[in-house]
Parts: sequence; C-alpha cells; structure tokens
Amino acid sequence: MSILIVGAGPAGLEAASAILKSHQSSPDPANQPPLPSITIIERGSSAGSNILSHWPNVSLFSPWRLNVSSSSLSLLPPAVAQKINSQPSACPTGAEYCDLYISPLSQILSSHPSVTISYNTTLVSLSRSQALKKSMLGRADSNFVALVETTTTAPRSVENSNSDSNSNSDSGVGGGAGVGGGFGAGAGAGVVVTVSESILQDFTHVIDCSGAHHPTPTFFGRGGIPAVGERSLVGDAHHLCNDIADDLTDDYFDEDTKDNCYAVFGSGYSAATTVRNLLGRKNTLRVYWLMRRVPTEDSPLYPVIENDILPSRADLCSSSNELGFGEEEDERCKVLANACCSKVTRVGGADAEFITLTLEELIPELEQEGFVPDEIRVHKIYNNVGLKPDQSTTEELQVHYCYASQGPMKLAASLGAGGGDCLAQVSAGIDVLKSPEPNFFILGIKSYGRNSAYLLKLGFDQAKEVAAFITGVEVTMEETMVSNNWIDS
Ligand SMILES: Cc1cc2nc3c(=O)[nH]c(=O)nc-3n(C[C@H](O)[C@H](O)[C@H](O)COP(=O)(O)OP(=O)(O)OC[C@H]3O[C@@H](n4cnc5c(N)ncnc54)[C@H](O)[C@@H]3O)c2cc1C
Repeated sequence: MSILIVGAGPAGLEAASAILKSHQSSPDPANQPPLPSITIIERGSSAGSNILSHWPNVSLFSPWRLNVSSSSLSLLPPAVAQKINSQPSACPTGAEYCDLYISPLSQILSSHPSVTISYNTTLVSLSRSQALKKSMLGRADSNFVALVETTTTAPRSVENSNSDSNSNSDSGVGGGAGVGGGFGAGAGAGVVVTVSESILQDFTHVIDCSGAHHPTPTFFGRGGIPAVGERSLVGDAHHLCNDIADDLTDDYFDEDTKDNCYAVFGSGYSAATTVRNLLGRKNTLRVYWLMRRVPTEDSPLYPVIENDILPSRADLCSSSNELGFGEEEDERCKVLANACCSKVTRVGGADAEFITLTLEELIPELEQEGFVPDEIRVHKIYNNVGLKPDQSTTEELQVHYCYASQGPMKLAASLGAGGGDCLAQVSAGIDVLKSPEPNFFILGIKSYGRNSAYLLKLGFDQAKEVAAFITGVEVTMEETMVSNNWIDS
C-alpha cells in the first residue's frame, strides 16, 4: 500500500499521523499488513506553508486545546507537548501555531522510515495510470499517477546565468518512481529558480489536503466576478491582499508612511480580524469596510453566541458589531454595507500612490441608512471575500464536487446550505468522505469548499476515519497515545 498525501498543512500531517496510529493499534500485531508507505508533497518550502505565507500574524480564535490532536501531540518531544498543554486556553497566532506544533510534527513524521515529505513540490494533475476519466470499470485496480512540479533555487553563477532557459533536471521526488524533465523559471537577483516536472506513480490511495487557497482569488466585483481592473491586481501583494494582515508588522507602519487608507472587502471573521488589526495601528487614517450584506441592529453582522466557549470569537463579534452600528464607533472606520465595487483603477502605474475604487449600491432600491459613495481612494486593498479550493488538480479523476460550495458533493450535501456555528460541526463519517473515485479522499479545509465553517478539530476526526478505512483498524478515543519508538531505533 502506498499513500500520497497532498499538502503538509495541519490536515495533511494529521492524516499521516493517524495512519501511523491506526497501524500501531492493530489488534493482531503478528498478522498485521506491512505499514503503508506515505509520501507527502508540499508546495511550500515548509510544513504549514499556507498559514505561514498568508496569515502568520493573525491569532486563531480557537485555543490550543482545540488545535491539536492528542495522537499527534504524543509524537512531539515531551518539552514541546508540555508547553502546548500548559496553555490550553491561549490562542496562538498562525506563526506560533506552526512554530510550536506543525513544524516539530512535520520533523518527527519525516524521521519515520515509512514517511517522506517533499517540499517545494506542487501537485499539477492526478489520474489513474490505466484509466481515463470516462472509464467506469476497473478504476480501483489502477494505481494513481501524478504530475508534480518541483522548484529549486540556486545562487546565480557565471555558468548558469547563460542557461536559465535550459536548466534541466531529471530527478524524481518522493516515494513514487520518477520520470522527469525541467525548465527554467523566473530568476530574482542573484538566484536561479528552476522548475522541474516529474511523474510520481504507484499510489494505491490519495488524500488531498491541499487547502482552499486557489491560485486565483475570489473576486469582490458584482456577483463575485472581477471588478473592472481587479484581475490586474492579482499577485500584487501591495494592492490586493487576498489574505489577512500579512504585513502588519510595526516596520510597515512606520511613522512616515503615507500608505494608511485601506479598503477591506468581506463580512466574515477574516474581514473582521483585518479591520480590527488595521484599526489597532496608530497610523491608520481610514478603513473603508465594504460588504454586500446589510446588517441592522436587529440582525447584526456577527450574531454573538450566548456563553460562547471561544472568548476571542465573542470579543471579535461584539467589537465588530459595535464598529458600524453600536455606540462605540471608531471614526476612522467607515462601514459601507450593500456596497459593490465595479471598477478598480491604479493611479500612477506600478508605483501607484493610491487606488481608486468605483462603488455602487448592490441593491439600489434598498432603503438604508448612510450611503455608498461613488468613489473612494485607498492605498491598499484587503480582499477577504472568502477562499475557494483548486479543483484543477483532480480534473482527470471522478470526483463529484458541489456546484455551490465546490466541496466534495456528499459532504457538502450533509452540511446543507448554511454555514452554521463551526464549533457545532462534527465529521460526518467515512461514507460521506468517500468520493466516486475509489480510495481518493479530500480532507481539511478543502473538504468544506467555500463553506467557512471548517475548524481544525474536524480535520483531526476526518483523518482518523480515513486512516481506519485504509488500515482496517479503528482507533478508539481512549487509545490516544502513539509510540514514537522509531525515533530511537
Ligand atoms: C485567517 C484564518 C484564520 C483561521 N482561524 C482558525 C481558527 O482559529 N481555528 C480553526 O480551527 N481554524 C481556523 N481556520 C481554518 C483552518 O483550520 C485553517 O485554514 C487550516 O490551515 C486548514 O488546514 P488544512 O491543512 O486543511 O489547509 P492548509 O493549512 O491550507 O494547508 C494546505 C497545504 O497544502 C499545500 N498545497 C496546496 N496546493 C498544493 C498542491 N497543488 N501541491 C502540493 N501542496 C499543495 C499548501 O501549501 C499548504 O501547506 C482559519 C483559516 C484562516 C484563513
């Protein structure tokens, strides 16, 4: 048995550790099948890469006790596990979460003889080696095959400065047999970046934990299409930040900076967090908070859950409701509800000093207090209108996605249309996690598609269910400890 896990985020690492745990818990160790080989491929240069590159400074609103699984915790060095256990109610930032949990866990897992983690390795496309997408028979008998891209960087030298476009590599990566070819990619000052393609094959199972950060973000124009000019901002981190507060360091907010007017799009927890972080900075002059929804006093933006067991979520909800509609308004923040952006114009080209947003009311006939101005000027846009998963990698497989949420269909149907309280979510069981494609699973935040109610703890349950299915060994709640005796052997 050979398992490919896509993504070394919390869900991917948990899937690997749950499989090891299930295997160790076999009731009949003498007759247990050999341990599967596990290959994890990760696009980034380290585990937890989406968190580290998109939201390192954002505090999770779930506390440590909900952000770790007991079986993975038991793999960590005792001092690390103790540090985590000593602060069960504290909410780490994304970077702290990766430093203390994700990074040590990835190191421990990669030291296991059956586990390989290949970084800088991106899944491009998956299929069955002997079956096309349209083939209905024999799919389970044909192993998975994947095209991956591996990125390497090397210092520019006299020799390679002349051969960027011809750089080549024929090395495979990970556990599968490799067939490779390469080509030069863009090069920064003093560095040559080479992207090589290779084929990984012979996987009996694939667990897709690649998250929901699609290379092309969701757009803030009318109905979710791009506003005029919005696409030209994609990839320009200074002007279109699909993620949250990734540069909110004190250095960025230097006293002299003129870049201090912002537009924040969205009305979820991410947008609320961005607005709060921006207003927490002394140099912020103006935050325009643009949203399609129209909150009222009776129907607030963020319903506050009575006795919420997540105090930081409760704080965020109450303070965000106050911002626009309560008595404790911050005059620097202008909430623009029922707002829609139709056009984005950079003034000044690449060194733009500001961006003009042309606005209109989403529903013109709606009677509401306040108004949506025709035009605003900002220095930076935070686009927090939601995440969406990348389905392109599974195009050649028979995966049934929900046409609304873009999550796998059975799970999406079990969740229903509404998001609901993420804490109330429970994993729906292995039958719901199975897709029409045999032995292919989508776990983690990608399994929720555009539905934002996903929490880490759900991924831990999903991983346990899939591990039990793959290994045939169910792990009970009591059997929480995983031995890490491979480390000594
Ligand atoms: C700002 C923010 C705050 C959040 N706060 C909380 C919270 O407080 N509590 C909570 O429980 N949840 C929270 N979540 C939700 C969720 O738990 C996290 O997003 C979590 O990181 C999801 O883990 P994951 O492993 O499913 O996906 P990710 O963390 O996104 O990991 C996916 C990994 O796959 C890699 N990858 C992607 N595509 C490919 C590819 N083609 N090939 C190879 N590798 C690939 C990525 O580089 C990444 O490392 C938050 C989410 C966001 C965005």
